[in-house]
Amino acid sequence: MADNCLFCKIAAGEIGELVYENDHVVAFRDINPVAPTHVLVIPRKHISTINDLDPVDAEIVGNLYLAAKEIAAAEGLAERGYRATMNCNADAGQSVFHIHLHLTGGHAMGWPPWPEKG
Ligand code: 5GP
Ligand code: ZN
Repeated sequence: MADNCLFCKIAAGEIGELVYENDHVVAFRDINPVAPTHVLVIPRKHISTINDLDPVDAEIVGNLYLAAKEIAAAEGLAERGYRATMNCNADAGQSVFHIHLHLTGGHAMGWPPWPEKG
């Protein structure tokens, strides 16, 4: 557990309510949802950003997506669709530096995400 990391505390069960957990990952609802369903899926291991991933973390990243698939199905999103996105650093808007997949769905979403392109 990294010192003063909010998501390490959530993964340790110290705060918040989990919607999913296994040996590798935990998931919980985003405090400020941007979609009807907005769940964050995080590894139990502290990794700050995608840039900090090591080859030994490949299984962890796979487990994030396997968990997202299970949660999406449980939320009724599997067939209609959803997004599973990870932000990295400032341009992507990362604000919590413990990697997390944003699982969002429950409404149609725009693409591509480049509004100033016009
Ligand atoms: P990022 O901007 O780093 O990609 O995403 C961080 C997410 O964490 C944001 O969507 C934000 O709403 C969420 N978040 C920040 N603090 C908390 C918290 O204390 N509890 C929960 N459940 N979500 C949080
Ligand atoms: Zn952490």
